[in-house]
Amino acid sequence: MSRPVVGIVGGGQLARMTAPAAEALDVHLRVLAARADDSAAQVIPDTVIGDHDDLEALLAFADGCDVVTFDHEHVPPAHLRILQERGVLVRPGPDALVHAQDKIVMREALSRAGLPCPRWAEVGDADDVAMFAAADDWPVVLKVSRGGYDGRGVWVVSHRAEAAEVMATATLVPGARWLAEEKVDFTRELSAQVARSPHGQAVAYPVVASLQVNGICKEVVAPAVGLSAEHSARAQRVALDVAAVLGVEGMLAVEMFDTERGVLVNELAMRPHNTGHWSIEGADTSQFENHLRAVLDLPLGAPTPRAPLAVMVNILGGTYPDLHRALLHVMARDPGIKVHLYGKEVRPGRKVGHVTVLGSEVDVLMERA
Ligand code: ADP
Repeated sequence: MSRPVVGIVGGGQLARMTAPAAEALDVHLRVLAARADDSAAQVIPDTVIGDHDDLEALLAFADGCDVVTFDHEHVPPAHLRILQERGVLVRPGPDALVHAQDKIVMREALSRAGLPCPRWAEVGDADDVAMFAAADDWPVVLKVSRGGYDGRGVWVVSHRAEAAEVMATATLVPGARWLAEEKVDFTRELSAQVARSPHGQAVAYPVVASLQVNGICKEVVAPAVGLSAEHSARAQRVALDVAAVLGVEGMLAVEMFDTERGVLVNELAMRPHNTGHWSIEGADTSQFENHLRAVLDLPLGAPTPRAPLAVMVNILGGTYPDLHRALLHVMARDPGIKVHLYGKEVRPGRKVGHVTVLGSEVDVLMERA
């Protein structure tokens, strides 16, 4: 076998953090980035600048790649089908990926497969939302099926007029529809990650707890503290079933709500995910390495944790623009903390890096991180 070429569409931090794993395995990475200063473009020499919506750019990028995979979910499935028709291996394929792109398609597939979801319905207008609420009660969570991220595209509405207002003022991306969901009274948010290869081999990472603030992931504790072995196995089973039912190839993150009724699936991501960054230091095989192994159809690596606990905290942009200067203080204060900076310009609220600490006491780790 010769040195494989893996093409990643998207030049964000997920592609960037795949580079060390690729280097170790002698995998050549090629990235399709929107701009020369994108996070991954800064560190991956074989970067092609182009638009992921542009079919010609995708075809030129894929030429010479052994497999094409993703840093984000925004590539139109129709483009990916054309790539497949031209003989390009696309992993995950468009038929799986559409479930991470469209929340209605995802809810329909999971409901059909009997996998646990919040009560939901597609809605066309505020009257439909009111009808949905009549069977459940306000408030209701209103979502756009496509184009949302980091909580943009999710609203909690308390009455019909509020739903009408949201639906009248939001701009929808092409093909997006509205769905209403019960507002789940969850105790915490969990994420269950699995890697699955085209052979059908799969491994499940420990189930983690994530804290989301304003729709953005703030911190992750791996594994989730106080989750019983039975509950955790159930969440892993759901994630493995989602991967198998949808035919996912690569990493899959299943974001879930932990409730008294058990776990309910909120969202899917078919790529490495923010809730798996802890695995770089915290697991025998990182999510980035297992994503590469899976899309190359190699045997998967052990997801075994290396410490009783890992805590990951995102660095969100604030008013302090010079992260390198801040390193001096962080490193002097805590030589055990692992810092990851993404090379992104600091803007308020933007994910510009993360830190991970390993240990055994959650309060101590949280304080340090
Ligand atoms: P995005 O695709 O923008 O990440 P999500 O569907 O993951 O949007 O929702 C973002 C956040 O909104 C979730 O992490 C959760 O905190 C909250 N949320 C979403 N759906 C519900 C729901 N049905 N009930 C309660 N909270 C919800």
